[in-house]
Amino acid sequence: MPDEKPRILTGDTPTGNLHLGHWVGSLENRVKLQDAYDCYFLIANMHAFTTRADKPAEIRASTIEIVKDWIACGIDPERSTFVLQTEIPAIAELTWYLAMLLPFNRVMRNPTLKTELETKGLGDNYSFGFPMYTVGQCADILIFRPELVPVGEDQVAHIEPCREVARRFDQMYCGVDPQTEDADYVKAGGLFPIPDAKIGRIARLIGTDGVNKMSKSLNNAIYLTDTFKQIKKKMGGLYTGRSAMDEPGDINNSLFQYVRAFIDDESRVKELETKYAAGDNIGDGHIKVEVAEAIDKLLAPMRERRAPYEGADGDDKILALLREHTAKANAVAEETLYEAKKAMGLDFGRRTIAVV
Ligand code: ATP
Ligand code: MG
Repeated sequence: MPDEKPRILTGDTPTGNLHLGHWVGSLENRVKLQDAYDCYFLIANMHAFTTRADKPAEIRASTIEIVKDWIACGIDPERSTFVLQTEIPAIAELTWYLAMLLPFNRVMRNPTLKTELETKGLGDNYSFGFPMYTVGQCADILIFRPELVPVGEDQVAHIEPCREVARRFDQMYCGVDPQTEDADYVKAGGLFPIPDAKIGRIARLIGTDGVNKMSKSLNNAIYLTDTFKQIKKKMGGLYTGRSAMDEPGDINNSLFQYVRAFIDDESRVKELETKYAAGDNIGDGHIKVEVAEAIDKLLAPMRERRAPYEGADGDDKILALLREHTAKANAVAEETLYEAKKAMGLDFGRRTIAVV
């Protein structure tokens, strides 16, 4: 059977290019896990409309850019499946059924939702669709019935309702005993496995503002597409709070998160930590350049893998790839939706979806 490998589902919202936070938080794990798992990577282009309904052209451009970023990172279109959210109607349908199983107040209390409302300056003016994305994300995940969801720390609060709704569905419609261990839900007759979040090497990379998480929409990101000059400039602006080279520095500050995240040579990291903590004549500026060089080294092979898609026909190549992958993603998603509807007494016929 082709599907014997356990599955992974995770993804990104097309609200801009991918950045170093994505790399350490999720992309690095995706690249590593491609052989052991059957991988589905989702472009949440429908969810991009929750905050940018007035910017369809930007969402479309970012959708294509994100796929280029993935390929640049080493995600292999031959081994992994790209899922274009708007072309997988089963996701939107499952969202409705799952919405009935999640208490409204539970959705609104989600801490990530609250943080996003604050940091994205949405105030009281957010759309009805914005909190809906919490439910939509449960459907994104469960429609592929994955065991693992590689995400950054900020998304763990979104995986929890997904686990909860999967348990509820399995108990309510598949007769699974509520005492069942999470790992045994499918064995006990459930349709959905209870998926686990897998946090990356760095759970939450801080942005170049030194305060918030690095984020596409907060203007504090080093992008995977940045040049060495841009990286150096952005690193140079990182706030550390230290004023003099002979002043002992805090090795838990934002700069040292970058040192540990991107400088490979562990003995060099130790040396920098010791000198910095002692105020031993080592300036922030010098360390920032060293980090910028390490980041540039990480990004160099990504620039090479991206190059074939930078030409005039690059976007068309990506669009063709997305259409091809949509067929595979729909086959899997339709199968899950059919099984879910059958469990709910809604098996009125099978259907196929064609995107041409
Ligand atoms: P937006 O600002 O539009 O929300 P984002 O930068 O937060 O964008 P997402 O598309 O929401 O990016 O996140 C994609 C994945 O990358 C998620 O799994 C998320 O947890 C992870 N991620 C994003 N930013 C970071 C970060 N700074 N550190 C670690 N992981 C991150
Ligand atoms: Mg985000």
